[in-house]
Amino acid sequence: MRQFWIGGNWKMHKTIGEALDLARALKAGLPAAADVEVVVAPPFTALKAVAEVLEDSPVQVAAQNLHWAEQGAYTGEISPLMLLDAGCRQALIGHSERRQQFGETDGLVNRKIQACLSHGLGPVFCVGETLEEREGGRVEEVLSRQVREGLRGFSPEEAAKGVIAYEPVWAIGTGRTATPETAQQVHAFIRALLAEIYDKDLASLKRIVYGGSLTPETARGLLDQPDIDGGLIGGASLKPGPFIAIVKECVG
Ligand code: PEP
Repeated sequence: MRQFWIGGNWKMHKTIGEALDLARALKAGLPAAADVEVVVAPPFTALKAVAEVLEDSPVQVAAQNLHWAEQGAYTGEISPLMLLDAGCRQALIGHSERRQQFGETDGLVNRKIQACLSHGLGPVFCVGETLEEREGGRVEEVLSRQVREGLRGFSPEEAAKGVIAYEPVWAIGTGRTATPETAQQVHAFIRALLAEIYDKDLASLKRIVYGGSLTPETARGLLDQPDIDGGLIGGASLKPGPFIAIVKECVG
């Protein structure tokens, strides 16, 4: 059985004070349940403060991005060592906003996953097609390339670490959630791909979560699908109520 994984991506929202208010509300309101792993990804400036508040709670803290090097002349970047120092345990890698707006390539994503693995940070490896790619019938081609290139060179043990987040670009921040059937189809494809690249064992234990306008209202239908193991949530993670409600959908 795969444990559900629910992550909140706060993106470029919240001052330190606002982030602390949200972290405290989550700590007070989230159920302590073995069936679900809960992670929040605050902006860099609030990471340490949020990690301190959540230290004695089951909620883990993730970064939204990292640089692969430990230190050096990389103005504006944050290293894996700095993230560990701030209390991070996981990191989002290859979010579509980074791929589309900051030119992150599959090769860069691969290096960043490698950096996570060599520093004990769980990678949250994001993949997903654009609307144009979907309408052009290229979903499997795009996802196959992203998954193969992102995991290039990793052993099955390494590839088993962290989660894959399937986030169709057309569903992120648009209010247009993928239907459970559409999402399940792609999750099943990614799982079959993992079996092809590695083996059935790796494919059956790897968690593949869905992201894209997930709300408390749409969560149940998606989480009921056999290959959907949780969600990465943007907008609905910025307030405690909806995020806690989604986590509660995993607790049974
Ligand atoms: C995301 O940014 O990862 C995301 C899924 O955002 P939203 O839930 O707002 O679509």
